[in-house]
Amino acid sequence: AAPLFAICGRPNVGKSTIFNRLTGTRRSIVGDEPGITRDRIYGEVEFDGRLLRIVDTGGVVPDDEALIPSEIFRQARIALEEAEAIVQVVDGRAELTQPDIELARILLKSGKPIFLAVNKMDTEKISTDAENFRQLGFKQVFPVSGEHGLGMGDLLEAVSAAL
Ligand code: GDP
Ligand code: MG
Repeated sequence: AAPLFAICGRPNVGKSTIFNRLTGTRRSIVGDEPGITRDRIYGEVEFDGRLLRIVDTGGVVPDDEALIPSEIFRQARIALEEAEAIVQVVDGRAELTQPDIELARILLKSGKPIFLAVNKMDTEKISTDAENFRQLGFKQVFPVSGEHGLGMGDLLEAVSAAL
């Protein structure tokens, strides 16, 4: 089977938007409403003549906000089991939260190739803000805009090279 990479992160950072952008499908539902997508959705993406599989995680968001972090970490554990590489997505327009920091820690200590996508960087001007997210401990930070399709090539190139 084609190698699999997972998209992880807290709700509303734009995981499904990036998934849809990369797969060119509407297979993952996007929206502000919690709980509108299924648990995990699989798709395919071609990069440089190579087929990769991708899984969008965290589609089901608990109604009780207090349960959201444990659901994020549960999804991350599944992702670490099944995927060969992981892209953690954060919201570049919001402050880092404790779950973002804890998720990065869990993923990075796995030893698998882990990439940070700082999403919602819709204009060239603010893409330098992505540097602020280096504190999470990633060597390389990928500013992206799932909505506008920016930064997707660089991100995919790095992921593909690790698979
Ligand atoms: P998920 O919960 O992480 O899967 O996030 P979604 O993909 O459902 O997106 C959550 C919200 O963020 C939606 O309102 C999206 O339209 C919005 N969003 C996603 N990507 C971007 C982006 O690149 N720029 C901006 N401005 N908004 C985005
Ligand atoms: Mg989603």
